[in-house]
Amino acid sequence: MEYGILGGGALGLVAALRLAERGERVTVYEREPIAGGLAAGFQIGDAWLEKFYHHIFRTDQGIVRLIGELGLADRLRWPRPRTVTFWGGQIYQLDSPLTVLQFPPLTIPQRLRMAAALAFLKVSPAAPLEGMLATAWLRRWMGEAPYRIVWEPLLRGKFGATRDEIALPWFWARVHDRTTELGYLRGGFQAVYNRLVERIESLGGMVQLGVAVNDVHTTADGKLSVVTEAGERSFDRVISTLPPRLLCRLVPELPADYRAQYDWGRAYGAHCLILALDRPLTDSYWMNVNDPGFPFLALVEHTNYMPVGDYGGRHLLYLGNYRPMDDPLFKQSKDAVVAEFLPHLARLNPAFSPDWVTESWAFSAPFAQPIVTTDYKEHIPPFDTPIPGLYEASMFQVYPHDRGQNYSVLLAEELVAKLTQG
Ligand SMILES: Cc1cc2nc3c(=O)[nH]c(=O)nc-3n(C[C@H](O)[C@H](O)[C@H](O)COP(=O)(O)OP(=O)(O)OC[C@H]3O[C@@H](n4cnc5c(N)ncnc54)[C@H](O)[C@@H]3O)c2cc1C
Repeated sequence: MEYGILGGGALGLVAALRLAERGERVTVYEREPIAGGLAAGFQIGDAWLEKFYHHIFRTDQGIVRLIGELGLADRLRWPRPRTVTFWGGQIYQLDSPLTVLQFPPLTIPQRLRMAAALAFLKVSPAAPLEGMLATAWLRRWMGEAPYRIVWEPLLRGKFGATRDEIALPWFWARVHDRTTELGYLRGGFQAVYNRLVERIESLGGMVQLGVAVNDVHTTADGKLSVVTEAGERSFDRVISTLPPRLLCRLVPELPADYRAQYDWGRAYGAHCLILALDRPLTDSYWMNVNDPGFPFLALVEHTNYMPVGDYGGRHLLYLGNYRPMDDPLFKQSKDAVVAEFLPHLARLNPAFSPDWVTESWAFSAPFAQPIVTTDYKEHIPPFDTPIPGLYEASMFQVYPHDRGQNYSVLLAEELVAKLTQG
């Protein structure tokens, strides 16, 4: 059977690989000139650095298995880097039960209450938490101070004005699935995506990079035609790995009742300013910036996690944001963002001087973070669409777990198992 696959991120490439392994003919269309989607990188010397900070957790068994299968296991490292919170002008480590119990901005009873609530989420299944709001639950069970100091700034940073609508199962997954050891593929996750492309091609598949799909429609002979600027080609089956809202735009034939149910919901875009410095800014990998007044929500100092020597001695840090897709940040030039963000670094390290910065890059992506409200689950589309032969599998179907490379791998494998069974 001939398959067209829309999107060359983790989901599209793993779906293509699994189909090609079963003898199916596959063509992947990827709009960007590089494979890997949201996890793609750019080159710094011999290494690749993700455009948006990436690591994996010990619980991410699907991507760990894939890394092994692609012959990359020897590059996988599992350090336990420091995660800290900036609050009240101070930096505090906050990344384990012990550091929760020692967290100075809270009183001892407040720390104990927060630790108990986190322990509950760690062991509880998600199902009983369905229908509840994260904010209401956190305030009720952790209390006002932990909510205000630790969690409200994080929810605000990630979900902005929609933070009070976020479903508790999403928050549960953030606690339940995470481990303190963080996995990284030395040299960059891009190696996974480049190797997936090589494997697909070695099995006779095609991966067309830099080719955007503009339209998908049924043809008179019951096939599905994929239209790109490079031309038109028909397939027996098409798998879209794009967000449901983008699929609805690409396929005018999708009926009104499908659109009413699934052309739904909000998503934020992601923005990262990456700086190369001639020295470290902090001694931590991940910093949640919880004090008000910062133009970024997290500072991720990658070279406090991976060796600085991998990047020619550059100290690399991300200043990350999630914002509504029409936020002016996405239209600002890199230089304007640098000028706006840099003065705030001296609040994190008073010795910082702008002349420490040797290079900078800015990246953004739309549809990077689904807004997981309590009714989100009802609007997750099934793999099947009303159009015969057209399937939808995207990170917007990952629930309640937080989207991540692992879940796209698992979703791709689940879809291919369904399509090829019997
Ligand atoms: C800031 C940030 C941090 C993250 N951190 C982590 C992390 O630490 N660990 C982790 O595992 N995951 C992380 N993720 C999530 C992870 O990147 C995604 O879950 C995963 O890469 C999704 O893969 P996907 O293939 O499902 O979707 P995508 O990567 O979105 O792939 C969809 C692809 O479709 C392409 N496309 C869109 N429209 C068209 C079109 N019309 N024609 C052709 N192609 C098109 C896009 O260019 C894209 O490549 C992070 C994401 C962000 C934004």
